[in-house]
Amino acid sequence: PPSKMSTAPVKMAPKKKIAIMTSGGDSPGMNAVVRSCVRMAIHMGCDAYCVYEGYEGLVRGGDFIKQMDWFDVRGWLSEGGTLIGTARCMAFYERAGRLTAAKNMILNGIDALIICGGDGSLTGADRFRAEWPSLLEELVSTGELTAEQIQAYKHLNIVGIVGSIDNDLSGTDATVGCYSALARICLCIDMIEATASSHSRAFVVEVMGRHCGWLALMAAVATGADFLFIPEKPREDNWREEMRSVIQQHRKLGKRKTIVLIAEGALDKFGNKISPEEVRDLLADKNGLALDTRITTLGHVQRGGTAVAYDRMLATLQGVEAVKAVLEATPETKTCFIAITENKIVRKPLMEAVLDTKQVAKAIESQDFDGAMALRDAEFSEQYKSFMMTTAGQIDHETLLPEKERMKIGFINVGAPAGGMNAAVRAGVSYCLSRGHEPIAIHNGFAGFARHHADSPGSVRPFDWLEVDGWASKGGSEIGTNRELPSESGMETIANLIEQYQFDALFLIGGFEAFHAVSQLRKAREQYPSLCIPMTLLPATVSNNVPGTEYSLGSDTCLNELVDYCDKIKQSASATRRRVFVIETQGGRSGYIATLAGLGVGASAVYLPEEGLSLEMLSEDVRHLKEVFAQDKGQSRAGRLILINEKASKVYNAKLIADILRDEAHGRFESREGIPGHMQQGGVPSGMDRCRAVRLAIKCIQQLEKYGRNVHNRVKMDPMSASVIGIKGASVIFTPVQKLEEEETDWPNRRPKAAFWLSMKEIVDILGGRPRHTLPE
Ligand code: ATP
Repeated sequence: PPSKMSTAPVKMAPKKKIAIMTSGGDSPGMNAVVRSCVRMAIHMGCDAYCVYEGYEGLVRGGDFIKQMDWFDVRGWLSEGGTLIGTARCMAFYERAGRLTAAKNMILNGIDALIICGGDGSLTGADRFRAEWPSLLEELVSTGELTAEQIQAYKHLNIVGIVGSIDNDLSGTDATVGCYSALARICLCIDMIEATASSHSRAFVVEVMGRHCGWLALMAAVATGADFLFIPEKPREDNWREEMRSVIQQHRKLGKRKTIVLIAEGALDKFGNKISPEEVRDLLADKNGLALDTRITTLGHVQRGGTAVAYDRMLATLQGVEAVKAVLEATPETKTCFIAITENKIVRKPLMEAVLDTKQVAKAIESQDFDGAMALRDAEFSEQYKSFMMTTAGQIDHETLLPEKERMKIGFINVGAPAGGMNAAVRAGVSYCLSRGHEPIAIHNGFAGFARHHADSPGSVRPFDWLEVDGWASKGGSEIGTNRELPSESGMETIANLIEQYQFDALFLIGGFEAFHAVSQLRKAREQYPSLCIPMTLLPATVSNNVPGTEYSLGSDTCLNELVDYCDKIKQSASATRRRVFVIETQGGRSGYIATLAGLGVGASAVYLPEEGLSLEMLSEDVRHLKEVFAQDKGQSRAGRLILINEKASKVYNAKLIADILRDEAHGRFESREGIPGHMQQGGVPSGMDRCRAVRLAIKCIQQLEKYGRNVHNRVKMDPMSASVIGIKGASVIFTPVQKLEEEETDWPNRRPKAAFWLSMKEIVDILGGRPRHTLPE
């Protein structure tokens, strides 16, 4: 690390030589993996190496295996592709190739290998590991190496990180790169939609995924496509008629555009390939729909570009975890790969994941499609159902509830707008319609509700399917949102209105105010029986400060905006190089987005309300920056960043810190402040926010639906009748608002008591080379 103070590893580990390699198809975020592994390895007192060009480099040896220093990976977070190269290597499929690879590793003294690649690369890794003892034996028996030379390398220590845009590896919810690819696909489809709508055209969009429909499925959910073909779940035999009838229905309802998404590997029930041309011909058929239809094959744009914030976070955290796994491994440890389950980074056995993944391909081949779906993670099949429910556009009598169980559900947005709010409303409405419920829009939050008679009589009204259908990708809040709490609008008025409209349930979407609102409504139930209806909150706020969840809709969109802004600002200093930018982020009293943006852009320091900011910290960072600029031999082509949350300090703000830095630097470097402000709310919501909005909104309505109508007494007794949906660790759960209010909320600071992400702050510090830090447990 650059700082003299932090050169000593925090935990003394036996000095190891750890090599990092990227393999298979490139994916956005691979550079972040390499950066994180290299720096974490150095931080832990090890030597870091990169193997260039995947297995090819391992087989060729020589200059392909290179020791890396701390500064070699500077600026890599924002680069697309993989800077250490990747290749398909035929030689590694053969034992002879793997033999040479083993020899090269030993000659270079490498004792551990971290491989970032797809299932092929990890299969290769697993084979290499299994064969290792026999490879060494052969090297010694043929005299290529001596018994002494191999002595210290009896066990091959391998850890996998899944880098792939396809998200096709079993056992992990996301692979490094898949959300970046999804973002590119959504961007393209949003553009296609504009022209489709203008000309009233149909588009058949082909996306990548030979054996895995994840990208096509998520893109369909995020954009609200009309029809979808994926390898794992072929349509029924009569798919041609089905497609015609669904699209005809959508057109009848007034839709001017038609988007059909097709994964490369799309099949029919009999294992025959469905091609975009066939689909186009069906849509264009003069005797059928007769739509003016075009095919767009997205191709390699899906791979390109820099990684989105989520992939940078995933890559960085997984890189750190991989180095830890290497250092903790014993000869008995099973070879692992690093996975993520919902929001939790975990180690899992590599072998099983590779086998399960192969099973999916086999299941598809043998037309066991239920088997293929079952082998995908839970989110996959849930999203498939979500897609089917939200795009039906017609009454399917199988999904309708009996008349007496149908509910009148009020939809209300509270707080500031956040990416994904509209997608959530859209999904909730479609789901309600598919069940026979009556979804009602309450415009402009509780303020709008309370005052709607006077100034806007139309502000409580049924949703219109066609109108809502266009909201999948819209930013902001189409039904309007407001910060006012029910207590401010008048609790009695709200209670009376709920009674007057005979709402059976309330679905709230919003941030901390929305949480506060549910809490108030719950508490007022004693006084106003009409409030004894089930209500549930789907957290949506860029600040991600709602108790009961580790993720709020909109926070991902916000992080992408911030990361984008910081990348640009950082690059703007490439002419002068010696510049520090102090960027002020939103987040209220939660340092979440500042920290995660810091993780995504490689900040030199992040200042948070949770930690505060003292003169001592500031002067330590000034001293550190001086040192960094003194050591910088021109490797860095961009400026450095400090992120400060808007409420981190009552005294220091971005401008003041920039001024102090400039003054202290005495001309050695300069400093500027940057305040992205409301830009952080984002324009078009991210693919992830849109997909999660759909999944969580449907779960929310299902939660409300459990209660049914006229259950005031039951609701009163049941704490779950006022709840918050959340992603917590490895699961998606509902938590009673009462429990959150009483046990988990830091009311004065308007945030959860526990900040699950605080350990990430230490990783920002470690990888940014900031001094004085201890390793998170
Ligand atoms: P993507 O998901 O982008 O296709 P991938 O890692 O699956 O990435 P592959 O081309 O399948 O890409 O594999 C990359 C490399 O890993 C191969 O070129 C080969 O060198 C090695 N490899 C793959 N499978 C094996 C195997 N069964 N045995 C040995 N090496 C393998």
